[in-house]
Amino acid sequence: MKALKNVSFILLLSIIVWSCKDDIIDPTNIEKGMIEGIVTSANGSKAIGGAIVFVLDGEEVYHAYTDATGNFNLEAPIGTQTLHIQTGDGTNFRTSTEVNIEKDQTTTIDASNARLNQVANIAYVVGSFDEIQLVINSLGYSADEITYADLSNYNLISQYDIIFLNCGSNGMDFINTDPSLAAFVTNGGSLYASDWAASYLVGGNGTGTCDAEGGFMANDKLCTSRTGQVTTIMGAQVVDASLAASTGFNNLDIEYDAPQWDMITNYDANYWDVLISDPSTNDALMIRSNQFADASSVGDPVGNNGDGWITICHIPPGNPDNPITITVSANSWDAHEAHGDTMGPCDNTDTSGTIYYTTFHTHAGGLNHDNSEAILEYVVLNL
Ligand SMILES: [Zn+2]
Repeated sequence: MKALKNVSFILLLSIIVWSCKDDIIDPTNIEKGMIEGIVTSANGSKAIGGAIVFVLDGEEVYHAYTDATGNFNLEAPIGTQTLHIQTGDGTNFRTSTEVNIEKDQTTTIDASNARLNQVANIAYVVGSFDEIQLVINSLGYSADEITYADLSNYNLISQYDIIFLNCGSNGMDFINTDPSLAAFVTNGGSLYASDWAASYLVGGNGTGTCDAEGGFMANDKLCTSRTGQVTTIMGAQVVDASLAASTGFNNLDIEYDAPQWDMITNYDANYWDVLISDPSTNDALMIRSNQFADASSVGDPVGNNGDGWITICHIPPGNPDNPITITVSANSWDAHEAHGDTMGPCDNTDTSGTIYYTTFHTHAGGLNHDNSEAILEYVVLNL
């Protein structure tokens, strides 16, 4: 009898403990499984490092990043879930796929469902020394060719999300497209400019005078000088941690195969992030900014305008110090707003696009076939 009483007591206690646990939302009690896969470019030919993979479940965003070989392992709640794969802030390249996650099991995503799709409308201006369009095409993506003259036509360029400005696309002429390019970046357009194409940003024809005519960026933000020599910079440093993690290397040799390349002589460190630098001179060789915004140019968003998707800064309810930038269906905004998320990427309250300036680029005759090509692939996917 005594024994039976003890059993009843333990049973009663168990029910109380069980009930309490039910009342408290404890993420450690959620049944989970693993998802694994390899993220590649649209044509399946290149593994994509640094892509975020995530599952939205209630207030939680379960996320992981692909390593340099494109592999990921993500733990997420069981059931049928939508797996999102994105690079950059998710506005230009992304994929979603349904996945059935089983308790304590690992589900492998089929390679065909882990290919990163091009969402962005992309254009490029043909250059004399750089053919970034070959890198774009090698990943299985496409870009429209537009002319230097087209850049002054805002109605035309505002259809695009990204414009690639190849080195030498305007020869030695002064560049004067500033109002349209300023409006393009302010309203969310992203730019790639290589070497002599610095003139689009800061004006002049690369003679090295920081107060040159033209360009849409203030003179104190960037200055370049066409004084680079034919050289190979050995062991150039990848100083940006996410770029290093995405490519899997911290150093690379960069070949400058033509003289008079545009050296970065001065830049505003509060405005630009340095991605790659010269280890002996500490000169910046590749920089990125999303700080440009011209209040007088604010207008309708450029490009595909999200197409029903919005980029947000998700603030994890239990981990507010580690916000993440993701792009989600606009329908889910109310739920995200309710737990304190903000509209736009975490590192920028403006809606402006990203600018990459690189002193090195593809070789005049085509692709590089070395580590600098992997860097340029990263730039394409993270604009
Ligand atoms: Zn959220």
